[in-house]
Amino acid sequence: MIDPDNLPFRSEVPLQVFLHSRCLNTRKFYRLRYVFLEEPRIYFAKSAHPLPEDFFSEGGISSPAISSDLLYGSAPCPYCGNTTWGQCGNCGQIFCGSATPPPQIQCPSCQAVLNIGSEGNFDVTRSSG
Ligand SMILES: [Zn+2]
Ligand SMILES: [Zn+2]
Repeated sequence: MIDPDNLPFRSEVPLQVFLHSRCLNTRKFYRLRYVFLEEPRIYFAKSAHPLPEDFFSEGGISSPAISSDLLYGSAPCPYCGNTTWGQCGNCGQIFCGSATPPPQIQCPSCQAVLNIGSEGNFDVTRSSG
């Protein structure tokens, strides 16, 4: 069992990255922590922590500085227990999601209605706000 907390220091890559996500059900913010794995050189979800309501002045939009191709896994939402996450194609907000999502969901940030694509991607169909 690899313990990402005990990896040797590598200066050329950040050892961990954070995603600022929002709960789809409670609209509260939380932070996903990804830690770097030396082998096979990916970031793997380690934990999720609630953030205070006023953590962001507005919106709470946050895109990862790391390509999402390098991010693997997800930690359960600390509010509702959803096991994965998606990203709004309209505003870029990351939010928690169920492994078996409904056909349509509403972005907790910009209120756009998102269709769940055939490949599990989120497509924006319209914005109601
Ligand atoms: Zn949630
Ligand atoms: Zn949105």
